[in-house]
Amino acid sequence: MDATKSNLTPPPEPLRSEPPEAPKKPRRCGPVSRQTRGLRGPISAEQAHAISARPIRRDSAALPVYAAMVHELRERYKISIRKWRTDMAGVAYELTYRDGRIKRLIAAPRPRSPVSAAIFLHEIGHHAIGFRRYAQRCLEEHYVWQWAFREMHARGIPVTGRVLRHYQRSMCHYVRHAHARGEHVPAELAHYAHIMA
Ligand SMILES: [Zn+2]
Repeated sequence: MDATKSNLTPPPEPLRSEPPEAPKKPRRCGPVSRQTRGLRGPISAEQAHAISARPIRRDSAALPVYAAMVHELRERYKISIRKWRTDMAGVAYELTYRDGRIKRLIAAPRPRSPVSAAIFLHEIGHHAIGFRRYAQRCLEEHYVWQWAFREMHARGIPVTGRVLRHYQRSMCHYVRHAHARGEHVPAELAHYAHIMA
């Protein structure tokens, strides 16, 4: 996929508060290409607040694990945190500069529960997997989720029912979008289109 071309395609998922900016005329030292991946929370802001308010106490013993995970992954993949979001949604950005430098950023909730950790890991996973490895977005999303789940298992973070709900809603969205655009959907992903109404 041509990076510049795909950059002009708006992400199919409506972003609640982080619409990617329209490509601007590249300035002398600004990025010449921008890749964006968004993950919108399938739950309302009120629900997200209720969820995020609860596990802080319940998961307080796990907070150092989450903090160490953030530190380690930021270092490993050279990722900047553009913003810690207060809702259960995330975005991954890749900016390419004229001199070839690439800047990797994410906006995600600060990990302090399995759901916020999963969303954070999903956005890191976009950088770990790469924005150009898979031609199809639904396939990319699938492998990014698998990457996030492997990281969760390795760190002892439970993949809870709420995490699975985020995952299934996300995959359902991208598989349906692929169908709507007449793209071939790999057989192993086809069932996601029927998960939820
Ligand atoms: Zn994604």
